[in-house]
Amino acid sequence: MNSNTSSPASSNAIKSKDPCLRVIPLGGLHEIGKNTCVFEYGEDIIIVDGGLAFPTDGMHGVNVVMPDTTYLRENQNRIRGMVVTHGHEDHIGGICHHLKNFQIPVIYGPPLAMAMVKGKMDEAGVSDRTTLQHIVPRQLVRLGQHFSIEFIRNTHSISDSFSLAITTPVGVIFFTGDFKFDHMPPDGQPVDIERMAHYGEKGVLCLFSDSTNSEVSGFVSSEYSVFPNLDRYIAEAEGRVMLTTFASSTHRVSMIIELALKNGRKVGLLGRSMLNVVGKCRELGYLRCPDDLFFPIRHIRDLPDRETLLLMTGSQGEAMAALSRISRGEHQHVQLKTTDTVIFSASPIPGNTISVCHTVDRLIRLGAKVIYGKEHGIHVSGHGCQEDQKLMLALTKPKFFVPVHGEYRMQVLHGKTAVSMGVDPNNILILDNGDTAELRPESMVQGQSVKAGVELLDGSRTGIVNDRVLSERQKLAEDGLVTVLSAVSTDGVMVAPPRVNLRGVITNLDAKTMAMWTEREISWVLENRWKQLTIQSGSKSIEVDWIGLQREIESGLARRMRREMQIEPLILCLVQPAPAGTRAYKPRLEERAPEVKQQHSQVSSTTSNHNKNQNLQVQNPSNINPSNNQSVVAKSIETEQKESEPTGRTRRRRSAVPS
Ligand SMILES: [Zn+2]
Ligand SMILES: [Zn+2]
Repeated sequence: MNSNTSSPASSNAIKSKDPCLRVIPLGGLHEIGKNTCVFEYGEDIIIVDGGLAFPTDGMHGVNVVMPDTTYLRENQNRIRGMVVTHGHEDHIGGICHHLKNFQIPVIYGPPLAMAMVKGKMDEAGVSDRTTLQHIVPRQLVRLGQHFSIEFIRNTHSISDSFSLAITTPVGVIFFTGDFKFDHMPPDGQPVDIERMAHYGEKGVLCLFSDSTNSEVSGFVSSEYSVFPNLDRYIAEAEGRVMLTTFASSTHRVSMIIELALKNGRKVGLLGRSMLNVVGKCRELGYLRCPDDLFFPIRHIRDLPDRETLLLMTGSQGEAMAALSRISRGEHQHVQLKTTDTVIFSASPIPGNTISVCHTVDRLIRLGAKVIYGKEHGIHVSGHGCQEDQKLMLALTKPKFFVPVHGEYRMQVLHGKTAVSMGVDPNNILILDNGDTAELRPESMVQGQSVKAGVELLDGSRTGIVNDRVLSERQKLAEDGLVTVLSAVSTDGVMVAPPRVNLRGVITNLDAKTMAMWTEREISWVLENRWKQLTIQSGSKSIEVDWIGLQREIESGLARRMRREMQIEPLILCLVQPAPAGTRAYKPRLEERAPEVKQQHSQVSSTTSNHNKNQNLQVQNPSNINPSNNQSVVAKSIETEQKESEPTGRTRRRRSAVPS
């Protein structure tokens, strides 16, 4: 298997001048989420899916993760259109954002997905930016000079899911989209196996296949297999039933509604996306049920508990979702009762496990009966396992193979499955986002990569959270903030004691020491960097690079805190300029107890190679705690606490250096 080989194999080099199809996944590889794949031939570009991903822990203030679309922005005049495989957020959630940034003349997709995209576009105010076209199964769509795409029905956890057979000048590319082989899908629309086999027989140049469950052996169970189990739990429930699942798992939602009807319970819907999806599905006829099956949630008290079923969001423990609010006792209309049965008909996406556990804990503590976990048979995946993946390979019989939609290990395992099904190991590429597969009738090689990465959006979905902002937020959350205010004259003299403030910094360092460090950094920068930071502009006046000065002080302090305290707070330094000739402030660097000098020397001599520290050490003893010696640290804290007690001030409030 080839992975990350950036230059074409020599045997293929001769042919590399022939025109080729370039396939560039911009998202969805080495990850699950933000599926976006670019196909280009000649002057034509088409895009398959436009998804988003959700932030991981540590992405403070980020609500949505988008792929970097620089490449598409730069080539937007070549974009002929987009095709959408199905209506999940990781396939359609990014479209509105794209439409604000580049042109997509037309988007083709199944009715349910298009209805969802339409709703999002109206909300985002971009309805006039493109044309949405519904497709029907086996419909052939032409885009540009070089692409024709056939939509082939597959099965997944949402209705209306499709694989794509993309005919290009170099051959047919089979793009599975998300799929499983479910022979009894709740909407009665099975996989179009004949059509898949048809393309396999005609010859598929390359298969791009869903790798989500490539670590799981066997066939994935049919969606219908959860029906009898859910039925039993609902029938057994003494009081109200609260069910949570992904709103976008429309098959599950429709079965739950059917079960409510069967068990004589009325349905209350909670959560914006649940209301939205059920509304859309009923509108389009994917969900058939009488109007009076539903009741408005504010009337919940009018119904007997045994006739109530609440279908809600929150299966992933999302803090603001209905179930989480109920578990915290914060829901406006629903208070949990000890007779309630709560059913989690979904498994946590890795990364959400902890918040799901917390929600379950809170529900149990409130006395509810909670049914969750694999052993109850109340959830199945929407993605095929190894045997489904083999069946796809057997039907399409591809010459080349690219595992997509999965984390790296899943892609690699899927590659191995393909080899076991007869694909030549040299004909498989494990790509990363931004990598390019160059396809010609006889070869597939990895070409020049394009810019890829993430764009992080905040709650408004308009403000981009860039890398710098994100790393600043991480530092703030992990190590806090240090602000330094200093006054320096235009002739390079410190004219007042710096003011130092700590916010959220955990340290056993007292304010005096902190202030002294700061004074030293400033003195050092002024002594050693002043020349580089000033320009003589005219005979008398000099121009000072104040920003540069601030940065020098910040980075010096950052280095010292990292070295001495193993923390990396965000450091913000502001220098107040003062006129030349202002009386200098004499840093009081010598006031610390001399006995600590030795400890400091020991630490510094082993940890520091910065010559300024050596200078300072000699001139200025101080009591910096050697953090690798716990007993000394403890002693220092004691001393320091005694010292600071008389002033009655805490480290935080004692912001100014004693002058
Ligand atoms: Zn999906
Ligand atoms: Zn997906």
